[in-house]
Amino acid sequence: MKCPRTNEPLTIIKVGGIELDVSKGCGGVWFDNFELDKFTSANSDHGKVLVKHLKQFHKPLSDEGTRLNCPKDTDVVMMRRFFSGKQQIEIDECPACGGIWLDVAELDQIHEIFPREGDYESAQRNFVDNVIRSNKISIHQNEYDIYIEKINFVGKFLRFITTRESW
Ligand SMILES: [Zn+2]
Repeated sequence: MKCPRTNEPLTIIKVGGIELDVSKGCGGVWFDNFELDKFTSANSDHGKVLVKHLKQFHKPLSDEGTRLNCPKDTDVVMMRRFFSGKQQIEIDECPACGGIWLDVAELDQIHEIFPREGDYESAQRNFVDNVIRSNKISIHQNEYDIYIEKINFVGKFLRFITTRESW
């Protein structure tokens, strides 16, 4: 796979038994579907190790606003969306494979916002509760639990809410 920013081949590294694709050209990193979950907490050693590793390739991005193509599905343009309901960090997600591209400082920012283990999960749960309440969506309790379980990324949930497509 190639870096969606610099077009250089991505380097495979292994952190905590998970293979990640890192760009030595810009310090960005590619997560296959759901892999990011293992690195979102600042408390996790894996997250810290990864941030440290990426920082050595840090380079200011000149094209930050550019829409990027998925490194896997090279003809698919990734969507920009907020990482969480807190709406502070925008990330790139591929609508085809569910993979996520983070630019060099973004994982660090995620750790700043969600410093402790479980912070991200509880923030997402609160956000989902609010969306359900404010939109007066009626969901059976047993369905609700299944939804909550499936929600790893708010973007997916919001798409579900607005389109009711299967996810
Ligand atoms: Zn993709």
